[in-house]
Amino acid sequence: MTKATENKSINVDPLELDKFSQLAHRWWDPNSEFKPLHEINPLRLDYIDRLAGLAGKTVLDVGCGGGILSESMAGRGAHVTGIDLGDKALKVAKLHLLETGKHVNYRKVAVEDLAKKQPHHYDVVTCLEMLEHVPSPASVVQACAELAKPGGWVFFSTINRNPKSYLYAIIGAEYVLNLLPRGTHDYAKFIKPSELARMARDAGLHVEELIGMTYNPITRVYTLEPDTSVNYIMAYRA
Ligand code: SAH
Repeated sequence: MTKATENKSINVDPLELDKFSQLAHRWWDPNSEFKPLHEINPLRLDYIDRLAGLAGKTVLDVGCGGGILSESMAGRGAHVTGIDLGDKALKVAKLHLLETGKHVNYRKVAVEDLAKKQPHHYDVVTCLEMLEHVPSPASVVQACAELAKPGGWVFFSTINRNPKSYLYAIIGAEYVLNLLPRGTHDYAKFIKPSELARMARDAGLHVEELIGMTYNPITRVYTLEPDTSVNYIMAYRA
């Protein structure tokens, strides 16, 4: 396969990778553009651990970035592989292991390619805050489903698409509170829970739970709530 055809077949938006690449050196700065990910991490980590029981499990973290979630899952005793297509993010993630002494196997591979090599391999697959950055989220959902063992857990989180999520996730986060750089998110790529549910159903996954992740701009605290109108997590079993 030539380089050109290889790139065409990969489900990736180079502009999205570039956005994350430019910020890559700041992944582990808790006051950087990645602050919201640092702040939601304990919540989502506890949620995943409570449902799937991470200790001793074989876990794949898809779109791992600098490794905020991957490392924390390793800290709970999981055997974690983190994959991303961003070279710089993976470099930062690997370097950070030297500081913390944790073990995560970071690899640059497309999730669809890994699914062909390691079908039904993982007890738990996580794909958080990544689906809204790819051209075909359905293809990622399908690959995540294939990578999970029968009965294994698959977690997705993304941003809902409605006037409120436009107001909170784009106007609020990028223009008023300056939590995220302008242009981080593209409203058209936000995904309604019903749309994600359909992709997951088509991939043979069974829904277990849908839960909202809410940011209170006054207290500046994130909580897990029934309100899924902006950020949400969906838990599935293969
Ligand atoms: N999941 C991490 C990082 C989210 S940021 C967390 O929640 O902490 C989104 C990440 O998706 C970035 O690291 C970006 O490089 C990655 N990404 C974007 N498109 C991708 C693709 N097609 N394949 C794999 N990773 C991708």
